[in-house]
Amino acid sequence: MAYDDTNIFARILRGEIPANTIYEDDYALAFHDINPQAPVHVLVIPKGPYQSMEDFTQSAPADLIAGFFRAVGHVARSLDLAKDGYRILANHGPNSHQEVPHLHIHIFGGRPLGPMLV
Ligand code: IMP
Repeated sequence: MAYDDTNIFARILRGEIPANTIYEDDYALAFHDINPQAPVHVLVIPKGPYQSMEDFTQSAPADLIAGFFRAVGHVARSLDLAKDGYRILANHGPNSHQEVPHLHIHIFGGRPLGPMLV
């Protein structure tokens, strides 16, 4: 399916709607989730038209993939989550209940998260 550039994260990237941004570099933008599921719940998105892990890992240039995942680690450290731990998660497609069709990595932390529930 073609990338839909009217999705809310594309609009955030274009500066059309505000976000509570905590980090930005050439590869990624990170901002607080509007409906946090943990004391820390941040989203990290790539700066390109990628719907999910599927197309990102197939078609993004290697330097963009590396820069993006480096940014995810940097954001977690900057939130002081590295010592106590955190969880990252990315949904792809309908079975995962992906709501926004622009790749986003969730970072959860700030409390013991318990076992993964799927
Ligand atoms: P998904 O289910 O993995 O697609 O997660 C989408 C996430 O985006 C949810 O956790 C929403 O709370 C979050 N979200 C939706 N709109 C906004 C927004 O405008 N700013 C920040 N987070 C948003």
